[in-house]
Amino acid sequence: MANFYSFSKIESFNQCRLQFKYRYIDRITTEIETIEAFMGSRVHDALKEFYDFVKNNVIQSKEWIISRYDDLWNKNYNDSIKIVKKEFSPEDYYEKGKKCLSDYYDEYEPFGQTKIVKTEEPIRFHIKHNNEEFPFYGILDRLDWNDEQKIFEVHDYKTSATLMTQESADQDYQLALYQLAIMSKWPEAEKARLIWHFLLFNKQIESSRTKQQLTELQEIVVDKIKEIEACSDFPPCKSALCNWCDFQEICPLWKHPKKMEKLEVNEYRKDPGVKLVSKYTELEEEKSELKKRIFDIEAEQSKIQEAAVELAEREQIQVIDGPDKRLVVTIKKELRAPTRKENPENWEKLRSILVKEHKYEEVSTVNNNMLSVKMKNWPKEFIDKIKTLLIDKEIKRVDLRSKN
Ligand code: SF4
Repeated sequence: MANFYSFSKIESFNQCRLQFKYRYIDRITTEIETIEAFMGSRVHDALKEFYDFVKNNVIQSKEWIISRYDDLWNKNYNDSIKIVKKEFSPEDYYEKGKKCLSDYYDEYEPFGQTKIVKTEEPIRFHIKHNNEEFPFYGILDRLDWNDEQKIFEVHDYKTSATLMTQESADQDYQLALYQLAIMSKWPEAEKARLIWHFLLFNKQIESSRTKQQLTELQEIVVDKIKEIEACSDFPPCKSALCNWCDFQEICPLWKHPKKMEKLEVNEYRKDPGVKLVSKYTELEEEKSELKKRIFDIEAEQSKIQEAAVELAEREQIQVIDGPDKRLVVTIKKELRAPTRKENPENWEKLRSILVKEHKYEEVSTVNNNMLSVKMKNWPKEFIDKIKTLLIDKEIKRVDLRSKN
């Protein structure tokens, strides 16, 4: 396991343990870069270059930053960049990034409101709790000193299509951890503004942490690190994020579908897995057709049963003859217990009598099958006692029997 922890490492563990294992335990590297990540990196690069000038009191124009972005995009773009949302073209993403920078420029012009301390700065520090400490690593997008308010500002640029809520910002631990790292160099960073720039929305979200919250945060992160270190089971966790995962080609949930995507139709049909699924699907469809057929047959039989009862009543017969078999029609009166739903009051009374007369165990509950079996042996006086609580129901039954 790598020595350093990072925000992405913990997020990867939270999202999908298998992805975490591939990336941080097995150390599998892939060349895959999604267009969203590529666009985000180019926007970050352009802003870094721009703020490196601001740090030296040079404010470049909006045209300058857009042209830097354009240059960085063209020099780095290659055909292996993965586009998950096929309805969008690389140009659409290029324009999105451009719009992010253009809106940002208009929003913060004329710049220089704060002093730029660091841009895209790698930071290493230790998370500490109860005499335990774990090394942490992160990249700080920008650290400013707000000379007017005498406070540090931790800035983070986001190009994601989801806008963070204030509640999430108040609970987020990435920038709060960076604040801890900054405090190890500048103790006055104990008070700092944590600022997220959601560039696609041209919106700034801000939060802050108390000293107490920063202490509690270290405890939470240390507990999480211990959970990670003790973990020995790394199952895949399917989610919408799978499409952006670098390991789809080796993940057991996606390996076969991804391999099949690349095959020509003829090759695809010959694949043993595809054949198994096709046969299974065929049988499943057959099963469901048969179930439907059985349902229809039973409905038809039920109509025949009604007609048979009608004929038996009309003709005063109990057996109806057929070519191979006979239908035996039984019409009789039977006492049965009400269901609890049918008549809760009588159900309860019946239950009490059965309990009192030590007969409840015999029928286990007020159960009609058991009741009709047991009633045959119960004394007449007892049956008379419960009779008013029972329902006198006429039973009409039709059975198919052989002629012998
Ligand atoms: S593709 Fe999905 S389930 Fe598989 S490793 Fe990646 S995130 Fe996990």
